Amino acid sequence: MTNDLTRWSAARMADSLARREISAVELTQAHLDRIAAVDGSVHSYLHVDETGVLAQARAVDDARARNEDLHVMAGVPIAVKDVVATEGLPTTCGSRILSGWIPPYDATLVTKLKAAGMPILGKTNMDEFAMGSSTEHSAYGPSRNPWDLERIPGGSGGGSSSVLASFQAPLAIGTDTGGSIRQPASVTGTVGTKPTYGGVSRYGLVALASSLDQAGPCARTVLDTALLHAVIGGYDPRDSTSIHAPVPEVVRAAQSADVSGMRIGVVKQLSGEGYQAGVQARFNEAVALLVDAGATVVEVDCPNFQYALAAYYLILPSEASSNLARFDAMRYGLRALPEGVDDPSAEQVMAATREVGFGAEVKRRIILGTYALSSGYYDAYYGQAQKVRRLIAQDFDRAFEVADVLVSPTAPTTAFKIGEKLDDPLAMYLNDVATIPANLAGIPGMSLPSGLATEDGLPTGFQILAPATKDERLYAVGSALERELVSRWGGHLLEKAPTLATVGAEVAR
Ligand code: GLN
Repeated sequence: MTNDLTRWSAARMADSLARREISAVELTQAHLDRIAAVDGSVHSYLHVDETGVLAQARAVDDARARNEDLHVMAGVPIAVKDVVATEGLPTTCGSRILSGWIPPYDATLVTKLKAAGMPILGKTNMDEFAMGSSTEHSAYGPSRNPWDLERIPGGSGGGSSSVLASFQAPLAIGTDTGGSIRQPASVTGTVGTKPTYGGVSRYGLVALASSLDQAGPCARTVLDTALLHAVIGGYDPRDSTSIHAPVPEVVRAAQSADVSGMRIGVVKQLSGEGYQAGVQARFNEAVALLVDAGATVVEVDCPNFQYALAAYYLILPSEASSNLARFDAMRYGLRALPEGVDDPSAEQVMAATREVGFGAEVKRRIILGTYALSSGYYDAYYGQAQKVRRLIAQDFDRAFEVADVLVSPTAPTTAFKIGEKLDDPLAMYLNDVATIPANLAGIPGMSLPSGLATEDGLPTGFQILAPATKDERLYAVGSALERELVSRWGGHLLEKAPTLATVGAEVAR
């Protein structure tokens, strides 16, 4: 075991803090030092709150010194995706239009992190308004994949995935509207869960597509992910779609790692053509390991999944075009004045602000969504997509009659090169082919590392899906698989990452 605190699991950090072997300030400072050493190369953070995070850590240490009752996670630091409102800290959503906006309130999940005593290191980079699969659409420049700095760390939550893979935080918050927690986890060798829709409050998230958006936990191990899930989950009267039920028993499930007698459904439509050979190979091996651990395997047929991407790229832009209407130069962030106009109208200021404030992908989706919702085309596009959404949910219902969980590769390929897909929106959208169905149906999903693709040596992801509100099943299966894989690898997959050790050296040079 290493003495470098940043390499520890969050569970071990929590344990050592509780035993008073380390202090929260010491642990936080270790992460700030790591950030100073490597974030110049990785660019995971948009904002680091050095003073605030140390003050929060000190408060935990003081409370512990007074023998106050503390949450198990008290003192474990965390990074938060910049789509989440944080009182007094910049929240840009990766967009120029929100530059300079400092929220006057905390999102509910941030309130929960603070109540648990988890110091917030800073805000992580993302594709603008969470639109993308690479963070290249961030107005502030891309984040980089710690496995290979020339490659993408996934998106939209590539800041939160790369922060974990480069040991700049042990835990991170992500949001997943079509895969933005799971696909970044997949390509960086980390873990991420999209909880059941309504399982974590959306209050204080900058809305992308409200019927799909879901915040969730990101970490390096399945247990760490569960520990964070338990902190942020639960009913919130401020979110009208919040589930009125206790948080699923995710920590206990992760600790049990029990898959005996579990029926694992392999989704026929989420494999084969379009899936990289190495991704598919690691997936097949992982399924075999689950069988060794006591599960049974069935193949399930979800014929309507072939329409998932098309339906998603009508529903998401439609909702986004409505949600983003609030960025009108009057209420938040940027205000640009039209050139050469003496006494501009509100409309002219709005147009000028949106012209410079929104990037190309955001404009593309607003135009698409406005078109799909227009009266002449509503039935043909948006209405039709909603019907497909229902069919996909029915495919899931049928599949879950014969399987307790469903599995697939998380993303069809390993991390691609920065720039490779930037000018080809359709190629970018295809990264989400396996993650989108879960968002359309509102069910929970997890991605965890399944190994390295032989052809490029990059991480591959394994996706687990469960019926709505049965999030604990993800953790039981994920933990069982992780145990088998880690014992095969002789350690965490991240220990095999080639550039991690040298990221710091590159900055120093
Ligand atoms: N890559 C998907 C998109 O661009 C997912 C976005 C998300 O989950 N926030 O829409």
